[in-house]
Amino acid sequence: MSNNFLIVLSGPSGVGKGTIVTRLLARGNYALSVSATTRPPRKGEENGKSYFFLSREEFAKGIKEGGFLEYSEHFGNFYGTPKKFVDEKLKKSDVILEIDVDGALAVRKSHPAALLIFILPPSREELRNRLLSRGSEDVKKIEERLERTEYELSKSGEYDYRIVNDELERAVEEIESAIALEKRRKND
Ligand code: 5GP
Repeated sequence: MSNNFLIVLSGPSGVGKGTIVTRLLARGNYALSVSATTRPPRKGEENGKSYFFLSREEFAKGIKEGGFLEYSEHFGNFYGTPKKFVDEKLKKSDVILEIDVDGALAVRKSHPAALLIFILPPSREELRNRLLSRGSEDVKKIEERLERTEYELSKSGEYDYRIVNDELERAVEEIESAIALEKRRKND
């Protein structure tokens, strides 16, 4: 069996997961899983890079064929982790999944060795400000995301690590230390 890790990163919308992932990819030997979604692309998002953008029919077909490691629905759209894509990447390196809490807990069931890391905002106010300054969505959508935040925070206790993203470099280092520690434990 490969010694590579499945690393699951979750946290509320706007907490800075994307930036953290970019840093991790630049620093270490990680591959990023690209999820499939039925939501339309935001400005600047590319098919196959940010997400695989699928129609609802294509997504339903994927579910039926058992093509997703996990999937869930948010804000009326489906999101899922393509199984084959992740299995291929895992042969070569650790793989990072950036998915929501329901997906993460489903992954833990199918992959008990997966490392679950939850990214926390410094405060709720800070999170709200970050979402507003992103400017990519209207206020109603932002309110929906903040409501979802409360649910996600309520599940954060089930994760292996909880890391506060108050300072990017420190948060990234904490994540790397957590991964290194878990690898040592596994190899002991
Ligand atoms: P967004 O629309 O902001 O890109 O993502 C909305 C939510 O979907 C985020 O909480 C994100 O973590 C989650 N998400 C993205 N990809 C997946 C996936 O493959 N599976 C699951 N369960 N959630 C995902």
